Amino acid sequence: MCSMNTTPSGTYDYLIVGAGFAGSVLAERLATQLDKRVLVIDRRPHIAGNAFDHYNEEGVWVHRYGPHIFHTNAQRIVDYLSQFTEWRPYEHRVLAQVKDQQVPMPINLTTLNMLYGLTLDAEQGAAFLASRAEPVDDIRTSEDVVVSQVGRELYETFFQGYTRKQWGLDPSELDKSVTARVPTRTNTDDRYFTDAFQIMPRDGYTAMFEKLLDHPNITVALGVDFAEMRERVDYRHLIYTGPIDEYFDYQLGKLPYRCLRFQHETLDQEVFQPVGVVNYPSEDVPYTRITEYKYLTGQQHPKTSVTYEFPTDQGDPYYPIPRPENAELYRRYRALADATPDVTFLGRLGSYRYYNMDQVVGQALATFEHLAEAHAADAVASPVESRAS
Ligand code: FAD
Ligand code: UDP
Repeated sequence: MCSMNTTPSGTYDYLIVGAGFAGSVLAERLATQLDKRVLVIDRRPHIAGNAFDHYNEEGVWVHRYGPHIFHTNAQRIVDYLSQFTEWRPYEHRVLAQVKDQQVPMPINLTTLNMLYGLTLDAEQGAAFLASRAEPVDDIRTSEDVVVSQVGRELYETFFQGYTRKQWGLDPSELDKSVTARVPTRTNTDDRYFTDAFQIMPRDGYTAMFEKLLDHPNITVALGVDFAEMRERVDYRHLIYTGPIDEYFDYQLGKLPYRCLRFQHETLDQEVFQPVGVVNYPSEDVPYTRITEYKYLTGQQHPKTSVTYEFPTDQGDPYYPIPRPENAELYRRYRALADATPDVTFLGRLGSYRYYNMDQVVGQALATFEHLAEAHAADAVASPVESRAS
């Protein structure tokens, strides 16, 4: 990777806005598979987007933008990323603080037995939930999903307050896909995810991105915004992984994104909490969760670092907000995007989708296939010109 902090110049086949998963995977593919000259820019002073991790001033390995746990069912995505990293196994576990107890989340048999002082087995647990579940004819919202599975009391205990804090909206105002991310179990499996692959890049995400971007055809410029670059650099095609509404100067109105304030602390103690993440569903507490990174990274260190997440309306956009009116506004921006030649939008912000990392990698690989097909078609149409390009 040829990295620079000054204004880049020259001619590139591709300008890629954003050095997160979407931008970096595409840069790697275009450079290595199509021999394209690529300039990747990011307005942040680092690569890796929201997955950025680093050693803080105390030497503790932390994630700057909250916990990033890699999980996927797609062998193809693991095979692709394995070219750039070794892995360490990590199964994520989460506890929820409910009054003075910390109980497994997602709700499982242990959660029910701890909360209600019972000794149910799996079959009894299923019957217990079935007796509380409230049938909902048309499951549309994030409230419907949970209430129809576990009833109102457990919904209020675990989901309503957390969701109101996280999104600034009641679950009844959010698409069902949001809380449907979190399952309910009647066995004692206390892992947050059940994906076939639950692994973390052994040397971290940033190290993996350094390898992804390490190619003579790739130039990376950090701390530069697309707004200052768009007229200064010569390029044929633009890949844009920032917020799609920002690209179009908000001409159809602002797409809502949810923001977070991260409060990072390093503590003079080896361990802070029993698992990687503790969720705080109560609205009496202003933050949603606390992450202790040593569980995620496996680092041994006499100190430990934690991050509190405070959701807000102000700041960097972290989460697209899944609800029908936002989907509709996005569709209108998408129509503008489709009518804009030589620009490709993707990633969590560029496609306004609540994607996990593996899904963004999948989207970037699929986008590359389309671009490669278009290049192949161009080469057939004008063989001389395309050989020269
Ligand atoms: P990003 O990583 O956001 O990268 C986009 C980049 O574009 C940014 O670095 C930004 O600075 C840059 N940019 C935007 N506009 C401009 C501009 N105009 N000029 C220059 N640069 C610009 N996923 C999981 O799979 N597992 C997890 O455990 C997980 N935890 C998460 C926790 C939190 C708190 C958050 C917010 C997300 C989490 N995710 C997780 C999701 C994950 O972060 C995303 O799926 C992934 O990082 C998206 O990659 P991306 O390239 O689309 O976007
Ligand atoms: N959620 C909740 N209580 C919890 C955990 C999750 O209400 O203890 C809801 C909340 O709306 C959250 C969504 O489920 O935003 C998805 O949770 P996930 O842990 O997948 O969120 P992420 O890690 O993406 O922030």
